[in-house]
Amino acid sequence: MASEFEIIRRYFNNHSRSVRLGVGDDGALIDLGGGKDLVLTTDTLVSGTHFLSSEDPTAIGFKSAAVNLSDLAAMGATPKYALLAITLPFSDEAWLERFSKGLYSVLNQYSVNLVGGDTTRGDVLSITLTAIGFVSSNKALRRDHATFDDDVWVSGLIGVGAVGLLIQRGTLRFSKRDEEDFLARLRKPEPRVELGQKLVGIANSAIDISDGLVADAGHVAKGSGTQIVIDFATIPTHTALNSSKRDPIIKNSILGGGDDYELLFTANPDAKEQIDSIARDLDLRLTRIGKVRSGSGVAVRDDGEELSVGFQRGFDHFAKRK
Ligand code: ADP
Ligand code: MG
Repeated sequence: MASEFEIIRRYFNNHSRSVRLGVGDDGALIDLGGGKDLVLTTDTLVSGTHFLSSEDPTAIGFKSAAVNLSDLAAMGATPKYALLAITLPFSDEAWLERFSKGLYSVLNQYSVNLVGGDTTRGDVLSITLTAIGFVSSNKALRRDHATFDDDVWVSGLIGVGAVGLLIQRGTLRFSKRDEEDFLARLRKPEPRVELGQKLVGIANSAIDISDGLVADAGHVAKGSGTQIVIDFATIPTHTALNSSKRDPIIKNSILGGGDDYELLFTANPDAKEQIDSIARDLDLRLTRIGKVRSGSGVAVRDDGEELSVGFQRGFDHFAKRK
């Protein structure tokens, strides 16, 4: 069976030359003229695949907007408009009220107008949001512009979404306070929209971490024809994981888990002061975790030792299940 990425490459990868950037990045870029590029992205959340059917509808609404704005953030775009296609197995007004509240809380925060969509009945609840934004012409942050000797940076904390999922499943336990914090971050990831905008002209490349740190770093490495080397010890994570960072299950969550929606970006070492100043302005942790080198793929080192990482492919909806 073809993988998710094979399906996209074979059947959905044809466009005219007027498109500045088509399939393959967090968003597509269309040259609008007048110094602006249009940025387009879409993402689907399906009940049972992306969230439990019992999930709080406010969180589902929040997340469907957040994951799309996260892709615009990864392009450095200013979000403006959204379209919502929703398939509902029911018409439950209390559910819709809460879903809408969560959705609009994110859209309003970033002054994004919902301007259209589609509403249908179907067996499985499915939400597809398309987000539309703008960026100065040819200035978007792309996966394919990482440059030799760039520093590799990440925003926020890594592995939190994946650990949140393990807490939700009952696999991991922490103190009540920490568990609530992980679950809140899993349910309501904050798209790094301001960060993406501020990195335009500073970062050479960017991606949002939705598939997992190593997999998403791998997309940048592949797109840019470089290697990315990550120093495990420097990866910022939740304080509750400080003492267990090297337990296999936690290590796997940090390196291979998805759902963080932080930005990974690369920048010339000379940009460090500007990036530190952005971190202060936004009150957001920005951490250097590695370097762009010549070669290919992602290498993760810990205390001089190379970790074997089987996470380079990331999540594939059509991967063979063991
Ligand atoms: P992300 O994780 O950033 O949302 P994906 O992994 O979902 O990105 O998709 C990778 C790339 O493939 C993106 O550029 C996306 O727009 C494109 N893509 C995914 N599915 C399709 C499809 N059915 N048709 C065309 N392009 C697609
Ligand atoms: Mg993305």
